[in-house]
Amino acid sequence: MNWLACPFCGSRELEEFVFRKTLPEAGASEYAAVYERANRIDGSLEHWQHVHGCRAWLQVRRNPSTGEVRDVDLLGGADP
Ligand SMILES: [Zn+2]
Repeated sequence: MNWLACPFCGSRELEEFVFRKTLPEAGASEYAAVYERANRIDGSLEHWQHVHGCRAWLQVRRNPSTGEVRDVDLLGGADP
């Protein structure tokens, strides 16, 4: 993964973005979300920020083992 597609700025080099956090699995209990985090090799939902661009917060769904980016949305789901 060397590029991310920002909804505002288009495809940009990964250096312009900062990883913020990995989100828990959908439907996970609050206890599991805090204490039972496991690195998932097949898919991950993460927050990234375009800090050297528009500063938008992004929700990125990707495969960490291959680097394949499956989906990029604005955090909160608003359209640009
Ligand atoms: Zn941007």
